[in-house]
Amino acid sequence: MARVYNFSAGPSMLPESVLNLAAAEMLDYKGSGQSVMEMSHRSKEYQAIIDEAESLVREIYNVPDNYKVLFLHGGASTQFAAIPLNFMNGSGKADYIVSGQWAKKAYEEACKYGDAQVVANSVDKTYSYFPKTKREDFRPDADYVYFCMNNTIYGTIAKDIPDTGDIPLIADVSSCFFSEPLDISKFAVVYGGAQKNVAPAGLVIAIVREDMLGKARDITPTMLNWQVHADNGSMYNTPACYIIYMCKLVLEWIKKLGGLEAMKEHNEAKAKILYDYLDSSNMFKGTVVPEDRSLMNVPFVTGDKELDAKFVKEAAEAGFINLKGHRTVGGMRASIYNAMPIEGVEKLVAFMKKFETENA
Ligand SMILES: *Cc1c(COP(=O)(O)O)cnc(C)c1O
Repeated sequence: MARVYNFSAGPSMLPESVLNLAAAEMLDYKGSGQSVMEMSHRSKEYQAIIDEAESLVREIYNVPDNYKVLFLHGGASTQFAAIPLNFMNGSGKADYIVSGQWAKKAYEEACKYGDAQVVANSVDKTYSYFPKTKREDFRPDADYVYFCMNNTIYGTIAKDIPDTGDIPLIADVSSCFFSEPLDISKFAVVYGGAQKNVAPAGLVIAIVREDMLGKARDITPTMLNWQVHADNGSMYNTPACYIIYMCKLVLEWIKKLGGLEAMKEHNEAKAKILYDYLDSSNMFKGTVVPEDRSLMNVPFVTGDKELDAKFVKEAAEAGFINLKGHRTVGGMRASIYNAMPIEGVEKLVAFMKKFETENA
């Protein structure tokens, strides 16, 4: 069986050992005579799975005890509305750093519920850098400050966590989830869709400081009220059972590799191979300012649309799939999440070198 190297921005590659284990356990999960897909979420077996998933999230991210871990539905996009409904509940003001399309969508959603304001953005240069902020930029009475840590489409990351003083800080970490260590205590909320780095699509993990909960607006739909999910151990309704099981397997894989320090080393080594080549190539160029480059999403261009298209096509034929850039920016993008092996990037760079020589 020939497996391709999948550079998709999400859903994306999963570790092969995890897929093999899931396959082995598919028909008979640990002697239960059933698949996890078929199991009641109220069963003892399933409770053990979700408990273990939560405890791995806590252990791997070193989550302080005064934070809840929630497993939610609806993708990160659903939380764009849940966040103002749950947290824009004092002054009704919220400050957003708009570093790309996902942050912009979150901001636009918040505008429906209160006084959301853009405090910084990088649209002037097609989001090719992460906008810098200082504590004084934020309204002191804002209910929260929101930012997107890793900008999946544009390939930037906030290397420094914005300093918001006492204002609660909320981060969308969908595309850098579990890719490197993160000091959770600096945040009021860290959340993200799991399909980039930790599971198949269908799951959001939210890590929320307890004092943030219990203040949702009365109109908040029950399913968007995070307090309800916290009170019910993420089982107010049927959770994304199988996806949470897959998430548990991926977290076990991360732990076995040495946790987030090891993950970071692995990710830095992969990204360096690609960025070093982009910096030396006469044909391919990275599009992001060097200081804000993401370890996860690497956009690049040749400067010639036809050549870009030829590259994407030939790369796919050679087993490097989903390298086309996001439809709003064009060019190419290689997403090299946790599960992308180092050989995948080495082989991609070898292919790019060959393409450069052949098309010079
Ligand atoms: C993919 C992505 C989203 C959207 O996730 P859905 O689960 O499709 O709603 C939001 N934010 C970031 C940073 C993303 O990469």
